[in-house]
Amino acid sequence: MNGMTRREQQVTDLNEIIEILEKSKVVHIGMIDGDEPYVVPMNYGYVFEDGKPVLYLHGARRGRKIDALRANPKVFYEMCCGITPFEGDVACNYGITYASIMGRGVATLVEDVEEKKQALSILMKTQTGKDFTFEDKLTTVVSIIRIDTLEFTAKKIPFQKKLYLSLHK
Ligand SMILES: Cc1cc2nc3c(=O)[nH]c(=O)nc-3n(C[C@H](O)[C@H](O)[C@H](O)COP(=O)(O)OP(=O)(O)OC[C@H]3O[C@@H](n4cnc5c(N)ncnc54)[C@H](O)[C@@H]3O)c2cc1C
Repeated sequence: MNGMTRREQQVTDLNEIIEILEKSKVVHIGMIDGDEPYVVPMNYGYVFEDGKPVLYLHGARRGRKIDALRANPKVFYEMCCGITPFEGDVACNYGITYASIMGRGVATLVEDVEEKKQALSILMKTQTGKDFTFEDKLTTVVSIIRIDTLEFTAKKIPFQKKLYLSLHK
């Protein structure tokens, strides 16, 4: 992946990465639908496998994103949190703080009932912080998409009082 610009700080600390995954709540999933990009915002749950996030998504069993992912499972995703605007004395000193994660991965439609129930519990845990269990019959009315991350980066822009000056030195 390309490098970060000067104003951005790369995040490599696992606890900070987990904090972004916990707080963001919504992930934007970029797909390839035929020869066009298609992006869908979705809630997610996550676990870590081999040092990389695995995302679980749930939704209707039919629709454009399901068709697109069946035809081409490659995805690129983005999530962000901590978005706080700040002001400055000149226009270039205005900005926002944020922390974000971007990754490329491969989507799989989960068919196994036990994994679907586990995915729904993971999703609810990420979204609400609470533990839920699910019955088999619920898994028949939703689709579960699993995204295995191949590569990801995290970064943040904390509040920087002298942002403008540091950018223009
Ligand atoms: C904050 C947020 C969280 C969401 N969380 C989830 C989730 O966890 N699970 C889930 O399944 N869905 C979620 N949605 C809805 C999601 O973005 C899609 O609308 C939905 O998944 C249907 O996608 P689809 O490709 O099957 O749509 P289809 O119904 O097949 O889409 C047909 C067309 O409708 C339009 N369209 C579809 N979705 C949207 C949209 N959201 N806004 C504007 N136009 C749209 C597009 O032009 C698209 O080509 C969320 C939306 C938001 C904003």
